[in-house]
Amino acid sequence: MEKSASNGEVTAVPIPDSWNFEPNERLLGLMSLSVRGVLARIKAEMVAGGGGGGRPVIPMGHGDPSAFPCFRAAPEAVDAVAGALQSGEYNSYSTCVGLEPAHSTGLSRAQGHNKQKLNPAPALCVQSLAIEIVCSVLARPGANILLPRPGYKFYEARAVFNGMEARYFDLLPEKDWEVDTDGVQALADKNTVAIVIINPGNPCGNVYSYEHLAKVAETARKLGIFVIADEVYAHLTFGERKFVPMGVFGAVAPVITLGSLSKRWLVPGWWLGWIVTNDPSGVFQRTKVAASIRTYHYICSDPTTFVQGAVPNLLENSKEEFFQKTIKILKESADICWEKLNGTNAITCPSKPMGSMFVMVKLDLSCLQDIKDDMDFCCRLAKEESVVVLPGRVVGCKDWLRITFAIDPPSLEDGLDRLKSFCLRHSKPAQ
Ligand SMILES: *Cc1c(COP(=O)(O)O)cnc(C)c1O
Repeated sequence: MEKSASNGEVTAVPIPDSWNFEPNERLLGLMSLSVRGVLARIKAEMVAGGGGGGRPVIPMGHGDPSAFPCFRAAPEAVDAVAGALQSGEYNSYSTCVGLEPAHSTGLSRAQGHNKQKLNPAPALCVQSLAIEIVCSVLARPGANILLPRPGYKFYEARAVFNGMEARYFDLLPEKDWEVDTDGVQALADKNTVAIVIINPGNPCGNVYSYEHLAKVAETARKLGIFVIADEVYAHLTFGERKFVPMGVFGAVAPVITLGSLSKRWLVPGWWLGWIVTNDPSGVFQRTKVAASIRTYHYICSDPTTFVQGAVPNLLENSKEEFFQKTIKILKESADICWEKLNGTNAITCPSKPMGSMFVMVKLDLSCLQDIKDDMDFCCRLAKEESVVVLPGRVVGCKDWLRITFAIDPPSLEDGLDRLKSFCLRHSKPAQ
């Protein structure tokens, strides 16, 4: 760079050819298929296409209900954070990653382990980091990890970024999205380190029975692999099946459970999660997995201290009515989805959601006359109807859609009606 003498401005000079640089290629490979990236592309097309006649946008693409007044955080949770902040005790760097033992029982209960005392105490972490931490700890050279399809993209991203191979087992739509355990056995080999189970499920809305989870644990035992139980939707169930924590099978196969405030407390922006190990036989101690999880905190950031400081009061003061209200709205929304989607041509909904905030539906493109695939469907739907849904390919199933129903019920009805008129308008004429 050279300064021109007269006014101090920098004059551009050509960049020398020798100055070439390639960014981390693992990242370049991940760019195309993130939930955020694809939704941003759909929204950009919607805006460019004039945005569906100026009607309000119905966001059924990603799971963040906190924008809707009916899904506001509980005042008890807000008070807990405000109290922690006002106490003046949480302005320092965070000094530890675990909760005080006296408080870990609250977290343990939040995760569904009513009587179990957790040892070691859960480690608090920035929520998405729980996935990063676990994938980093397990990623020894040559390792592979078994992930559900459809699934949650972040696992693949984190596994691959750490040099692990991601292998996919199917969830079976005709069996309420149960794990294909035969498929799991066929996939695994001596380098398989773990299997990921998301229950209640994103993107399928599945809730697994005790018997099915027992079968998954037995399969993991047979294969000698760990179970990573993503339970960020713990207790968000509204069908007949109650949530069963995977940790109850810790004696069958060692379980690493990931939990979070994000979904159940409706505060994804607070960014607080936890890692709990359930392993009465001490496998994680013996294999240094537990120590590695703690050590990983040396090289990653901690959650904001006043949110950490709020956890004991937040758990203590959260009211059952708050959770019941969320579940009541989600149940109503799931019913609306089931009814309206089943009345929409070109769409099949194989299984009624029983938990979480999502449902997977299959597109029958042969009924539609001018739609190429799921991506095309979503872009056109956004452009013509201002309705945003996620193309199934992003969660591993091309020509499916993932629909988020955690929005206020009147908007949901509006959105699904627009989806229906879109499908009708693009239907092939009857032969
Ligand atoms: C939302 C979610 C998480 C946690 O994500 P954060 O945005 O970091 O709170 C983890 N797993 C699944 C399956 C999720 O849907």
